[in-house]
Amino acid sequence: MGSIDSFRNEVRDWLEENCPDDVRVGSRDKLGRERYNEWVRTLGSRGWAAPGWPVEYGGGGLDREHQKVLTEEMRRIKAPPPGSFGLTMLGPTLLELGTDEQKREHLPPICRHEIIWCQGYSEPGAGSDLAGLQTRAVLEGDEYVVTGQKIWTTGAPHADWIFCLVRTDPDAPKHEGISFLLFPMKQQGVKVSPIRLIDGSEHFAQVFFDGARARAKDVIGPVNGGWTVAKRLLQHERGVSNPEGRAAAGKRKGLVDLGREQLGTRDGKLADPALRERIAQHELDAQAFALTMRRAAEEARTGQGERQIASMSKFYWSELGKREQDIAMQLLGARGLGWEGDGFEASELARTRKWLITRADSIWGGTSEIQRNIIAKRVLLIPE
Ligand SMILES: Cc1cc2nc3c(=O)[nH]c(=O)nc-3n(C[C@H](O)[C@H](O)[C@H](O)COP(=O)(O)OP(=O)(O)OC[C@H]3O[C@@H](n4cnc5c(N)ncnc54)[C@H](O)[C@@H]3O)c2cc1C
Repeated sequence: MGSIDSFRNEVRDWLEENCPDDVRVGSRDKLGRERYNEWVRTLGSRGWAAPGWPVEYGGGGLDREHQKVLTEEMRRIKAPPPGSFGLTMLGPTLLELGTDEQKREHLPPICRHEIIWCQGYSEPGAGSDLAGLQTRAVLEGDEYVVTGQKIWTTGAPHADWIFCLVRTDPDAPKHEGISFLLFPMKQQGVKVSPIRLIDGSEHFAQVFFDGARARAKDVIGPVNGGWTVAKRLLQHERGVSNPEGRAAAGKRKGLVDLGREQLGTRDGKLADPALRERIAQHELDAQAFALTMRRAAEEARTGQGERQIASMSKFYWSELGKREQDIAMQLLGARGLGWEGDGFEASELARTRKWLITRADSIWGGTSEIQRNIIAKRVLLIPE
């Protein structure tokens, strides 16, 4: 690995050549799914979709300093950061808990963004009580036969493979009969039934398994020992692998500008004292959260405290994001009520949607109530 300065130049040159102007919009949402996928594949071809993963598994093999440079340079030109269920959840879990054979097979296509994954955890009767899941997998020769149903499976209509929690021992206590299984979505025996949302989009689905096939060698961790793997993946989902990213999410700018625009100023201050105070409090909370996440990142580097932070981080950033959007709605007043049609600016319509989608942030990956339970039990050690 070269010096930081020469690496920065290398990144700049590469981005100049490979990141087209229309991609430089800051986020996946603004870019659209197809174009975003192309962009992540381009990054993946250089190993930079997973810059910190070992080169032998398709990653960039970069240390933290070099990764930071890559992030900074991408942010500078508003290149959307890479992300997928494979990159942020399954990959980090496989790196820790997969066998070498499993890593060699599954990690490189994740890095190249060739195989898109979805998460088969929730079922109609198993959300917060995830270990109550009923989807069954029965071993036949060297394959499992899977029967059951999942729900709220994000991205299922476009996914190639699923990482799925299945019950392999129905007689064991509920946490002890679960396995963590990988299998292809595009096969007979898997039916995806999209769920249409209020905005017309269909990226969630119910997924039905009726004799779906999975190779026995695609169980991650021990058979019937999938609960530990499932929990570790949830920690990654809740922010363990990217505390600095979570910190940045808490530092979103915009409320002050929006406040100036909507309320005007008096003596250089926002005209409405009550809202001014709410915004100031939000900024303070966001700053405090960002610093806590920076501390968590430091602790993770030295191997302390990393796992405890997952639930606190998930709880805090999702509630913070909701508060931010509540304040934005208050600032916009009736302008924040638009859904479609004339009479509203595109940015106002986007705000309404943003407000709505942040409601989901305290549900997916475990609700705020569940995070509170975990914090009470595992961090504060409050007896049940
Ligand atoms: C945007 C989004 C994306 C999602 N993507 C996926 C995905 O890709 N894959 C997947 O598998 N799932 C996904 N989910 C599902 C998500 O994991 C579940 O919705 C979540 O775990 C809650 O489960 P539930 O909906 O069954 O609610 P329930 O578990 O029925 O909970 C209902 C309410 O009761 C509360 N509650 C439940 N138990 C307790 C308790 N012990 N103590 C206190 N309060 C409690 C909950 O907090 C909640 O308010 C997604 C959800 C959303 C919103």
